Amino acid sequence: MSAPTRREFLKHVVSVGALSIGASAVLTACGKKEGGGAEKASGCMDTTGLAEGDIKMRESNAYVDVSPNKDKNCENCALYKPAAAGAACGGCNVLKGPIAPKGYCNLWAKKAG
Ligand code: SF4
Repeated sequence: MSAPTRREFLKHVVSVGALSIGASAVLTACGKKEGGGAEKASGCMDTTGLAEGDIKMRESNAYVDVSPNKDKNCENCALYKPAAAGAACGGCNVLKGPIAPKGYCNLWAKKAG
């Protein structure tokens, strides 16, 4: 096997670069789609003021502002604390910080009734 020529090497660098740019564009587009939708409207992803452990707890349980599951969300979770009148975010008996009614995490438990 011979070492790649300079031309081959440059072709490889250019193609990897193009892939990276493409992947970034896709990720950016995905982020915009989510961020511009209900997630941004509810704005319950703000962890300002929370202790690092509480932020990690949200992350380790994969809390998201918009549930990926059409049948499961915070509003129909037994652990959800409804938002006060006029507020966009409620709370959770386990996770600290603002919680979107249409959010979700791995701790979801079916609400009785
Ligand atoms: Fe939402 Fe998870 Fe709290 Fe249930 S446990 S209210 S799904 S954040």
